[in-house]
Amino acid sequence: MQAKKHPIFITNSLTGKKELFKPLVDDYVGMYVCGPTVYSDVHLGNVRTFLTFDVISRYFRYLGYKVRYVRNITDVGHLENDADEGEDKIAKKARLQQLEPMEIVQKYTVGFHEVLNQFNILSPSIEPTASGHIVEQINLTKTLLEKGFAYEVNGSVYFDVKKYNGLHDYGILSKRNIEDLMDSGRALDSQDEKREKIDFALWKKASPSHIMRWPSLWGDGFPGWHLECTAMSTKYLGETFDIHGGGMDLKFPHHECEIAQATALTGKPPVNYWIHSNMLTVDGQKMSKSLGNSFLPHELFTGTHKLLDKGYSPMTVRFFMLQSNYSSTLDFSNEALQAAEKGFKRISSALAVIKKLKYETASSLNHELDSDLNRLSSDCLTNMSDDFNTAKTLAVLFEMSSRINDFKSGIKRVSEVTRDTFENFKASYVGFMEEVLGLTDEVENNNKLLVGTINVLIALRKRAREDKNFPLSDKIRDDLKALGVQLMDGKDGEMNYSID
Ligand code: AMP
Ligand code: ZN
Repeated sequence: MQAKKHPIFITNSLTGKKELFKPLVDDYVGMYVCGPTVYSDVHLGNVRTFLTFDVISRYFRYLGYKVRYVRNITDVGHLENDADEGEDKIAKKARLQQLEPMEIVQKYTVGFHEVLNQFNILSPSIEPTASGHIVEQINLTKTLLEKGFAYEVNGSVYFDVKKYNGLHDYGILSKRNIEDLMDSGRALDSQDEKREKIDFALWKKASPSHIMRWPSLWGDGFPGWHLECTAMSTKYLGETFDIHGGGMDLKFPHHECEIAQATALTGKPPVNYWIHSNMLTVDGQKMSKSLGNSFLPHELFTGTHKLLDKGYSPMTVRFFMLQSNYSSTLDFSNEALQAAEKGFKRISSALAVIKKLKYETASSLNHELDSDLNRLSSDCLTNMSDDFNTAKTLAVLFEMSSRINDFKSGIKRVSEVTRDTFENFKASYVGFMEEVLGLTDEVENNNKLLVGTINVLIALRKRAREDKNFPLSDKIRDDLKALGVQLMDGKDGEMNYSID
C-alpha cells in the first residue's frame, strides 16, 4: 500500500525550521549519512543514529520514492579526539593489537553489519569507503588549492577558514561565531602549521612510521576526515543533494567543515535538508565508548550487562528506540526496556492477528467504526510525515491494536465496516509496522522457522527408519536432543516433540 506524494515536513537543522520537503528530482531522494569509523564495536548509541536513517529511508520508499541512500565507512583519516593532531583511530588499534589496519577495518565492518542486521536495519544503496576514494580526495584538495581556499605547509594541506568566511558563512549550521571560535581554546604553538587554529586538514603528511599512506602531489600522506564525506557524497549524489544526516555530535566541526569545503568548491550549498539525530544517553550522559557507559548489543540480548536484570530481544530494543522522536534525547534504562517489552508484545500480537484476519461480507454498516478506522489509517501517514515522528505513529498503532483485539474477541466484527476501509486499515497496520518501522513479528518468525526445521528433521528420521538406516535415525534424535529438542515416538509411527 502506498500513499504517493503525501507531503513530508522535515526539521532542517540548517534553518532550525520545519520545512515542506521538496526533492530536487521528482520521486527521487538522495541521502547521505556519515557511517562509523570502524575501529571498535558499535554500541547502542551508534545503533540509534543508524536506525533513525533506516526508518527515514524506509518511509520515503513506502511513499513510492526511489531512494539512493549512501552511508560511508570511515576506514582512514579519523584522528583521535576528532582533531587534526593525534593518531589515526584505526592505525592506533592496529598498533595495539599488532594487526594490519585493514584487518581492524575488516573485523569491525563485519561486526557493524551483523549488528545492523540483528536490528533489521536495511543496507544502504551504496556503502563507500574513504580509502577507496583517495583519488577523489586528492583532486578536491587540488581544486581547493587552485581556488585559493587552501594552503600547503610541509606536505600537509589546510582549509583556510578565514578566507572562506570572508565570502561565505562558516558557522551557518552550528550557529557558531567565527570570532569566538578563533578566540577560544588553546593558542597556536610554534609547532602548529595552521594559520589559524580553526583551519582544518584536507590532507595530512604521513610521518615515517605512519602505515596508512598514499602518494600525492604533496608527498606521502592521508586524507582529512571531513573531506572524505564531501568526496563520497558528491561523487554519488551530485554537487547538491537532498538530505544529509548523522548524529547531533557531528554537527560541529564535521558537518560545518563539509559545508565549507563543498561550498568553496562549487559556490553552492551541498545539501538542502540537514537532519541530526539526537543522542542515546545513560543517566543523562551521552552513551560513548570513551565515557565507559556504552552497551554492546550482545550484552543487551543476553542480559549480561551489569545494569540489566535480563536480556531483551533486538525488536524490543528497536521498538524502545522508536518510542521517542529522533530529535529528542533518549535515556536508556532497565525500566524503560521492561515497559518496551510489554508494549512491543502487544502491538506485535495484534500484527499476527490482523495478518490472518479476512474480510467478511458486509452486514449493517457501523458508520462510527468505519470512520474511526479510516482516521487511524490516515493518522499513521500524518504522524510519520510530520518530521518522521515515530513516537506519535506508534501511539496510533497502539490505538489500532485495540481495534484489532476487538475484532479478535468478537466485540466488533469486520463486517461492520466497508471492504475498502478494512483493507486500508489492515494494509496500514502491516505496512507501518513492517515496512516503515521495520518491526517484524519475531516470535512468530522464530517459531515458524524452528517448527518448520524440526518437522523437516522428523520427516527425514521417519524416512531413515523406513529405510532401516537406524544409525542415521538415532543421530537425528541424539543431535536434536543435544539442542534441547526431545523427540517422542508415538503410536502408529507418529512422532511428537517437546522443547526444553
Ligand atoms: P562514530 O563511530 O563515533 O563515528 O559514530 C557513528 C555514528 O554514531 C555517528 O553518526 C555518531 O553521531 C553516532 N553516535 C555516537 N554516539 C551516539 C549516541 N550516544 N547516541 C546516538 N548516536 C551516537
Ligand atoms: Zn561524515
